[in-house]
Amino acid sequence: MIAYGLTTIPKQMIKIPPVTHHSLTDTVSAKLAASILDGSLKTGTQLPPERELISQLGVSRATLRQALKTLEQNRLIEARPNVGWFVRSVDESNMAQAKELAGAAAPPAGRSAASEPHTAPLRVPIAPDKPLHIPNLQTDRQGTFDFISWWERDKVRDAKVLIVGAGALGNEVIKNLTLMGVGHLFIVDFDNIEAANLSRSVLFREADNKRSKAEVAAARAKAINPQIHVQYFHGDVTTGLGLGILRRMDAVVGCLDNREARLAINRFCYWVNKPWVDGAIQELLGLMRVFVPGQGACYECTLTEQALRDLSLRYSCPLLARQNILLGKVPTTPTIASIIGGMQSQEALKLIHGMPVEPGKVVHFNGMVNGMHTTAYVPREDCESHWTYGEITELPARAERTTLEDLLRIARVDLGPEAMLELDQELITSLECPTCHTKEEILRPLNEVSFEAGHCPTCGVLREATMTHSITGEEDFLHRTLTSVGVPPLHILRALNGQEYRFYELTGDLPEALHFRHFEQTEPLKVRGRIRLKNGPRSRGPVDRPTQGRVKLHD
Ligand SMILES: [Zn+2]
Ligand SMILES: [Zn+2]
Repeated sequence: MIAYGLTTIPKQMIKIPPVTHHSLTDTVSAKLAASILDGSLKTGTQLPPERELISQLGVSRATLRQALKTLEQNRLIEARPNVGWFVRSVDESNMAQAKELAGAAAPPAGRSAASEPHTAPLRVPIAPDKPLHIPNLQTDRQGTFDFISWWERDKVRDAKVLIVGAGALGNEVIKNLTLMGVGHLFIVDFDNIEAANLSRSVLFREADNKRSKAEVAAARAKAINPQIHVQYFHGDVTTGLGLGILRRMDAVVGCLDNREARLAINRFCYWVNKPWVDGAIQELLGLMRVFVPGQGACYECTLTEQALRDLSLRYSCPLLARQNILLGKVPTTPTIASIIGGMQSQEALKLIHGMPVEPGKVVHFNGMVNGMHTTAYVPREDCESHWTYGEITELPARAERTTLEDLLRIARVDLGPEAMLELDQELITSLECPTCHTKEEILRPLNEVSFEAGHCPTCGVLREATMTHSITGEEDFLHRTLTSVGVPPLHILRALNGQEYRFYELTGDLPEALHFRHFEQTEPLKVRGRIRLKNGPRSRGPVDRPTQGRVKLHD
């Protein structure tokens, strides 16, 4: 962790080789000038005694005195005889000198810190335009962040961040974003806590055994910082999270341990044009990368031909693929999780502030040799993930009340009688046994059919699944609700007519699907679980009239 206040002068400053008397003086005066500029050393305050500064900065008395003299000559501090050094106000008369001094430690333009980690001194970003706000540190828990020159409290408080995965990395990211006061956290995980998680998950306790990771992580975040708002979803992000939730986020942080989920997040983020931050850890190795749709490579671009082949192989037996994901375990330590999770949290913070990030590049960290390097991925022209939805039509419709027929009717008004729906998730229509050839009608989404259920009850062999994801209007199950075919609340569905696509959001689900009111003192909205239907027709309840009061918006 690097803080720029005087009390936490980074120790690595004294480790910069080779150190000349001159460069160290420059570094110390730059450091102090930067602290004056960013307000952490306020006008009129007295600098700590010489002895203390020497120990904090880790420099000699001669170096410190030289640096103080430089600051005095540039009218940034003044000596009061027999009292000490005091910070002068920064105005037009000395602003230029202050900036020049503060910038003295900056690396030459075009060289990133990562390329020369041992010689590039710290550079404090300076934003003198930021109005000086003096927080009350007795009562204001986020107060010290105001000293950071680029920190915008309102943006952080209003931000919405989706954290996918509440394992080792997710715990670190949730902890960091919570401490920094990121106002709205949406936490997703399908897993439950077990004893082995306790060694790398700061948010979990022994008594949490078997409880939902997402729920416990959200509850602890809210307990740590009651000023933020949280929501959790205990379920599979690849099938259970409506795209309308992603669309309303400022950033998505992936804390995942498998390729399938990363690929799904990558596609979803591309579809709704959201940046996402990926992290991966194994033993003492880790990597962190930011993907921004349309800017450089995406996650799928980074996969080798072999990896893509492996994935398609697994997709050819989808029931088995899901089973493998559920069993996947990667050995990690809490230390590498906090390093990579810390980097991910900082990238999320930059995205929230609209600060520049480096999309399509990866930062590798090797904890065995403390090596760190950045590489740019090459975007693939034929990458299948590079597709962003156009205008999204918001329907006052809800997944559990709207039938396939309802939606098809709406699409046909817009796209003509040829319009069909394209579901994101495969719908298993039947399972057939290759041995005894018995065929069972299923009509349930892939994620609701377990690996065990895929086996023939008579012969015990894995049955072949017949699946579809296109709804053409010929089906005999058009009366089924969207929920029953695996469409999550607040999802965005695609319709097409061979030439063009239209995109429909189930915006009627918004109040229940995205509220950030879990663990609030006030009664949270009643959030019902997903409705799972048995096979067979379902009596139709009152249906929203989706064609009325439609709202269109540009995103
Ligand atoms: Zn790509
Ligand atoms: Zn059989």
